[in-house]
Amino acid sequence: MKSLLRTWIRGRLHGYRELVNQVDPSKPLRGGPARTVAVVGGGLAGIAAASVLGERGFRVHLFERNSYLGGKVGSWTVEFPDGFRARVDHGFHAFFRHYYNLSRFLEETGAGRHLEAIEDYLILSRDGRRYGFAGVETTPVLNILSLMRRGFFSVKEVVFNPRLAGLRALLRFDPRRTFEEWDGVSYDEFAARLGLPGGLKLVFGAFARAFFTPGDRISAAELIKSFHFFYLAHDRGLLYDYFDRDYQEALIGPVTARLSAAGVRVETGTPVESLGRGDGRFAVNGQPFDYVVLAADTAGTRRLAAGSAWLRENAPELHRRLTGLQSSPGYAVLRIWLDRRAGEGWPVFVVTEKQQVLDSVTFHHRFDAGARAWAGKTGGGVYELHCYAVPPELATEAEVREAFLRELHHYLPALGDARVLYEHLQLRRDFTAFDRNLHNERPWYDPGVPNLYLAGDWVKLPVPAMLMEAAFTSGLLSANAVLAANGLREERVWSVPRKGILA
Ligand SMILES: Cc1cc2nc3c(=O)[nH]c(=O)nc-3n(C[C@H](O)[C@H](O)[C@H](O)COP(=O)(O)OP(=O)(O)OC[C@H]3O[C@@H](n4cnc5c(N)ncnc54)[C@H](O)[C@@H]3O)c2cc1C
Repeated sequence: MKSLLRTWIRGRLHGYRELVNQVDPSKPLRGGPARTVAVVGGGLAGIAAASVLGERGFRVHLFERNSYLGGKVGSWTVEFPDGFRARVDHGFHAFFRHYYNLSRFLEETGAGRHLEAIEDYLILSRDGRRYGFAGVETTPVLNILSLMRRGFFSVKEVVFNPRLAGLRALLRFDPRRTFEEWDGVSYDEFAARLGLPGGLKLVFGAFARAFFTPGDRISAAELIKSFHFFYLAHDRGLLYDYFDRDYQEALIGPVTARLSAAGVRVETGTPVESLGRGDGRFAVNGQPFDYVVLAADTAGTRRLAAGSAWLRENAPELHRRLTGLQSSPGYAVLRIWLDRRAGEGWPVFVVTEKQQVLDSVTFHHRFDAGARAWAGKTGGGVYELHCYAVPPELATEAEVREAFLRELHHYLPALGDARVLYEHLQLRRDFTAFDRNLHNERPWYDPGVPNLYLAGDWVKLPVPAMLMEAAFTSGLLSANAVLAANGLREERVWSVPRKGILA
């Protein structure tokens, strides 16, 4: 019976995979006059566009503001006053197995061999309960029922709460109707309307926080889309992979080699301040280009658009949308080197029920070679603490740090007396906002300005992808638009099914 059900669900969801574009094999891969492309921004979105177009014979110049490539998956070295040096990054990332486009790229570049499977997706509640996803049924819909057997909620809670029927919205994801119906509603309001039972509230809350926008601001439509994308549209489960070493070695090294083989000129430490146009071509940092793929983050794009008089005069609607792009309220990542270790039996990354700041803890000394060597030598441990939305009442770095340590000690009391030997705190405001009512304002990756394309996890796409997969896919779609305009064969772009099972 169950296997029949699994087969039916798989059929309803198109085998969990859809080809987004028609690829005409009779079209050439390369050819025509060599055209030039400026890619602005070297995160995953810019990397996707640059690598495809470079490999297809375009002369690609990638401009990156930071001194390193990779954007939020890049890494850099910090040096402390006593000479101790360590590589740090924006934070631990989960590479989910249904990131079809990004996964293929990681395999092709060789970065995929550095991916390690997480033991469990573990959520810790304040009162000491633990919710894990290892071994949970992976077939969509059945996976929700499986949560009931795991104690996330009970039959009684469902039977006595008819409001929970509202959860059907999750199974009915439709790119147009879901946003029409739910984009003006916050997650907190959505959860209150449903009267979610405790266990489900904890899990949904943890899930919602992973999009860096507080519950009273985040759009319920974005969350329904995300729930569809991460949980209800594929059978790869919620367990994911992570890089077993620092991003430079695991990912950016192989990516740089690939870009270089494709002839892409990468210029780091080179921000683009404005976009101009003259003699029928774009002007980027004083050089002429036939095409531009704008793949900067929200903050960078906003600034760049504000400085672009040409855009304001010739594409006022796009200029308005780009200058109005919003970033989330701000996140914090604290890396600490402690004189002892605890929590060694847990997965290397655990989600915590946030009290004021702490959303997750990463145990770096368990997988990152540099941290492991340091921990082996000193007997200490290297931890990374994430706060995806810093509350406005914490005004200073010191307050954020103090709250981080207080909550870490709550979950790992054995670290209560630990000495902090080194620390590195980042407070940043460069994450895409997923607030209510932003959807209609997001520009499409092909914004209707000849030869200009947009890429990044903030861009509106024809697929329900989120975060890294959205960024990478947007870069592929932008590259495809350039290929199509030149009569060349497009790259295949994949997606999970674009609508929910009941849509
Ligand atoms: C702490 C943390 C944890 C995360 N965890 C996950 C996770 O587990 N799973 C997941 O899928 N995603 C996760 N993400 C999100 C993920 O990192 C992003 O969605 C993705 O990397 C965005 O890629 P991007 O190319 O759109 O943007 P970015 O990586 O932000 O790249 C944009 C680039 O543009 C550059 N730039 C900006 N302005 C200019 C300019 N004027 N000129 C030149 N360059 C410019 C920037 O320096 C940057 O390098 C996490 C993010 C953070 C911060």
